[in-house]
Amino acid sequence: MADIIKLLPDHVANQIAAGEVVQRPASVVKELLENAIDAQSSSIKLIVKDGGKSLIQVVDDGMGMSTTDARLSFERHATSKIKRAEDLFNLHTKGFRGEALASIAAIAHVEMQTRSEGEEVGTRLKIEGSEVVSQEVCVTPKGTSLSVKNLFFNIPARRNFLKSNQVELRHITDEFHRVALAHPNIMFHFYNNGSELFNLPKSTYRQRIVHIFGTRANAKLVPVEEETNVVKIQGFIHKPEFAKKSRGEQFFFINHRFIKSPYLHHAVVSAFEGLIKTDTYPGYFLYLEVDPSSIDINIHPTKTEVKFDDEHTLYAILKSTIKHSLGQFNIIPALDFEHDQNLDTPYTYKNKEAKQPQVTVDAGFNPFLDAPRKPSPATRGNISARKTQGEWESMYVGLDQPMGDNTSFSSVHLESDTITGSVFEGKVEVGHSVATTFQLRRKYIVASIKSGMVVIDQNRAHQRVLYEKLLKNATVKQSVSQQLLFPLTLSFTKSDRAILDEIRTNLTHIGFIFETLDDESLKITGVPILIPENEVGMVLDQLISDYRQEIIGESFSQADILSKTLARSLAVKTGEILDSDSQLALVNDLFACKESRISPFNRPIYIMLTEQDIEKKFI
Ligand code: ADP
Ligand code: MG
Repeated sequence: MADIIKLLPDHVANQIAAGEVVQRPASVVKELLENAIDAQSSSIKLIVKDGGKSLIQVVDDGMGMSTTDARLSFERHATSKIKRAEDLFNLHTKGFRGEALASIAAIAHVEMQTRSEGEEVGTRLKIEGSEVVSQEVCVTPKGTSLSVKNLFFNIPARRNFLKSNQVELRHITDEFHRVALAHPNIMFHFYNNGSELFNLPKSTYRQRIVHIFGTRANAKLVPVEEETNVVKIQGFIHKPEFAKKSRGEQFFFINHRFIKSPYLHHAVVSAFEGLIKTDTYPGYFLYLEVDPSSIDINIHPTKTEVKFDDEHTLYAILKSTIKHSLGQFNIIPALDFEHDQNLDTPYTYKNKEAKQPQVTVDAGFNPFLDAPRKPSPATRGNISARKTQGEWESMYVGLDQPMGDNTSFSSVHLESDTITGSVFEGKVEVGHSVATTFQLRRKYIVASIKSGMVVIDQNRAHQRVLYEKLLKNATVKQSVSQQLLFPLTLSFTKSDRAILDEIRTNLTHIGFIFETLDDESLKITGVPILIPENEVGMVLDQLISDYRQEIIGESFSQADILSKTLARSLAVKTGEILDSDSQLALVNDLFACKESRISPFNRPIYIMLTEQDIEKKFI
């Protein structure tokens, strides 16, 4: 048989390598910024247009390159950063593979201008799809400017795969944050379509965080500091009360390189144990310095994963350092999440005597009459507290025992004033026989129906109910907004503000009323009636981060995304106790929904067990 194996031509090999190194414009941004840092720049400018699709340019004032180096830098495996295999274990630079420029030049139109310190004139080089188009002498400041145009011009499939400009810009901003946070001693500018997004002077770590995340960030930070033989840790954690439901501001840097480490993340989270709710995450900015020979960053081409020699020790040190900081700065839980304010004994009732509560029965009450019906959980507030006040105060007096789970005035957050469609309309054949429900493990509501029983996931059911309601409000643009007595002033980072501006119209349709105060802050004067006032900040943060992370990527409209996220934020959670009225109301509301089987996030809401199913189990 004839020989059939051939070496791939360079430009093909480069294009293949590019697939690994460059997934989207943000990957180019990362590589170029890191090269500028490796070149010991003190000021770096990032300029992008159209989410990086038409232009990404990085201008630095670093060491620049000689004419020969400028040409060589685009060859694959050409690097000035390591010479021998051993150097891999003593890395002090970001780059070391010598792949980035070659890969980028294979799939874009690249222009480089560079001059090193000692030279009078510099070099201008143009490369398109790995082909050198021109090389000439030029007058240029010391340092390097590299511009990348028309990314993926020769790989249409890749180009079409890119998301909208805003989404790509968001990815770029994330990369920019990571690099800028790791290097506060370097000045950064970031321009998008001609307007300045960030202007970050040389500063300390804390100042850099505040410059990026806004003045509101400062008050959240608790310093962390520790130095051992193994690792030097510095940075900040967020105070526990600022823990968020979504992952967001969580940054690990090892030797000034952003990394992802689920293992170390776990160490941080476990230090917060007992101080934050289980489904929330603390924010942190942690800078670890270790001996470069004790880590291996070579395991992933985009290099956000790192292998440590001694992970266990690092875990233990990190955890105890953070615990120490939390303790030292007197960070005790500001909120007791399990604590139910309804159970606080009013001071004046302390000395009163207990009275037997009066039970009154409406003898004429017929549960099967049509109106008025049971309360609806479709709206959330603290109505249950209002409803029960009066009776419960007298009930509580004199009771020493703390209230158990099955108290009637439990932590129910269901409001009760709307009447919904007929019970179990068509969806589940139940007739009018649902009179009782019960809650199983604070997670499911079980109801008996004509043909057997349904087991309903309370969280998903409420999400569905809220989602349909919110979506309807958003589309008919007639949402009910509650005016705040005292307007809230909330501040956001510039990029968060950009997102809020993007979704502003729909926020208004849903019931948020706000004015812009300045670059960072908003004055909120009205919020959707469903949202308790003290949760507004959290709900908006959640909205922004969901929107940013495109968790709900498949959604067709903003209104839809907003309704889903809000529904998720506001729905009763697994673990919450529902009293029997609320259970029944939730069940009714659920089956009055247009689609009662599937949650807004496409999960089944209930299962049915027919009598036959049950009988089979007894055979
Ligand atoms: P790596 O960074 O892994 O070495 P790159 O392909 O990113 O590989 O860059 C190749 C080489 O080009 C670098 O090793 C460096 O010598 C040179 N280089 C790239 N960007 C710059 C820059 N902004 N300033 C000075 N030299 C640079
Ligand atoms: Mg590089």
